[in-house]
Amino acid sequence: MNTTLSRRKVLGGITAAVVGWSAASQSWATAAEVSGGASVAPVPTLDGTLTTSAADLDRFRQDFGRLKGSAPWAVLRPGSDRDIARMVCYARTNGLKIAVNGQGGTGTDQESHSVYGQASVPAGGISIDARARSRIIRIDSTSAVVEAGVTWGQLTDAALRSGLTPPALPDYMHLSIGGTLSIGGIGGTVQKYGLLCDTVQSLDVVTGNGDLLTVSPSSCADLFDSVLSGGGQTAIILRAKVRLVPAPERSVVFSLFYDDLATYLADSEKVMAENRFHIQAGETLRRPDDSGWRYKMEVAANYSGGAVPDRARLLSGLRDSRAEAVIEDIGYRDYMFRLDGYEAYLKESGHWYQPKPWLSLFLPASKTRTFMEIVERELTAADLGGGFLLFYPYYTRKVTRPLAVQPAEPVGYLFDLLRFPDPGETGIRAMLDQNRRLYDKAVAMGGKRYLVGAVPGMTRADWKAHFGARWDGFCRAKRRYDPSNVLTPGQGFFGGEAG
Ligand SMILES: Cc1cc2nc3c(=O)[nH]c(=O)nc-3n(C[C@H](O)[C@H](O)[C@H](O)COP(=O)(O)OP(=O)(O)OC[C@H]3O[C@@H](n4cnc5c(N)ncnc54)[C@H](O)[C@@H]3O)c2cc1C
Repeated sequence: MNTTLSRRKVLGGITAAVVGWSAASQSWATAAEVSGGASVAPVPTLDGTLTTSAADLDRFRQDFGRLKGSAPWAVLRPGSDRDIARMVCYARTNGLKIAVNGQGGTGTDQESHSVYGQASVPAGGISIDARARSRIIRIDSTSAVVEAGVTWGQLTDAALRSGLTPPALPDYMHLSIGGTLSIGGIGGTVQKYGLLCDTVQSLDVVTGNGDLLTVSPSSCADLFDSVLSGGGQTAIILRAKVRLVPAPERSVVFSLFYDDLATYLADSEKVMAENRFHIQAGETLRRPDDSGWRYKMEVAANYSGGAVPDRARLLSGLRDSRAEAVIEDIGYRDYMFRLDGYEAYLKESGHWYQPKPWLSLFLPASKTRTFMEIVERELTAADLGGGFLLFYPYYTRKVTRPLAVQPAEPVGYLFDLLRFPDPGETGIRAMLDQNRRLYDKAVAMGGKRYLVGAVPGMTRADWKAHFGARWDGFCRAKRRYDPSNVLTPGQGFFGGEAG
């Protein structure tokens, strides 16, 4: 490792004259301390910056969930791949932890969109600011190469200029691509394309050994498989080659309401099996008079030019409450960015900034009804606040990445309890406990958790059970590619409590 000091590059703020890490005092040392005889491991020469100013550290203290707070000891804004490789080696040599922080969002609200400290470095360490690596490198007719800090929204806008789109997108577009691929990524085309990470063709990464590698299903496949949906455990994603497909111009969006769970489930699986729509989602919501739960299937048929979808044919045989159906014909981009208006509303109302104990699960179809009946008995309007509960089917075989573990049935249901508690809500701890209870019930029924979300008290044994037959291979990859266990401690898979 080149340990030439470059004080100019390391200075990140007026209080950040850091020149190296002092193992003795477990703190960064300044030039004055070094000249006073302190023994430090000098920070390597960087093309970007490493900052330790209090303001910078504070900005990385918490994530979107606002449930866990832990400021890093330094923030790396890498100017090159080499910076990341060097700082990984530096972390390794000096017993520090290091993790990428997605830093997506809109306006001045840039942060990790984890909700339970998954991107944090709980015992102190170095956060890598993903925004420093956010260039779109190339777009051709079937794929894009992007740096990990690019958001899905930025990629979509760039691809649309060429008449293209990523086939799989999250509902919220302002998430970093690196962060989303590290946990899987799901949206309303999962029935056809799988998770977002299923649309990745290759990756450039830095392993926990500091090695720069290009990985794909045919090159270092074990590393490729352990990075996608692997929670940042074996390597840091620098760039991803993501599939693109021709973009439609418009979407006809159908919101169909159901009062009865069994009918909602049957119709949801029917339209999926018949491949009627391009996009399929759905949610459970309170009845307008708050007397219980009802269901909304949200499905969309895309089109371009004059090939307008036949609405009557698309709706034939469905048993929704038709008088309440809402049908809109909107531009494809507007539909993809549909949560922007909701985000603005939640910011205005203050919900956006509350603690958010989310729970995200994958349920086996055969147990979904029983599970939902339990949930509906427990859950109140206050448990959702300004949020919602996504709940829709997909084919588990479409999820191909080994670490995105799935229920052992052909059809799974996404259960995504996206709570936005009302400002002043005092029951956050009870919501976390409820998450744990519901998680345990789901597991007993053959469910799996999605890596996002807040499930307290996850132990190594819980994670071992979660990954099941994939656990041993995952541990092997961890030992091979991150033998000093420096990468992404906030996931807590290999010890320590985390999301
Ligand atoms: C408002 C909102 C809407 C959301 N909508 C969706 C949705 O529609 N679909 C969906 O699937 N999820 C959704 N999520 C969840 C989201 O996918 C996760 O929060 C995820 O963690 C991505 O967020 P991020 O880009 O901020 O990454 P982070 O949360 O910062 O990172 C996630 C994990 O990956 C690691 N990591 C980040 N970048 C890299 C990298 N380059 N290399 C290696 N490891 C890395 C981090 O250290 C962390 O452990 C939503 C979240 C929010 C808050």
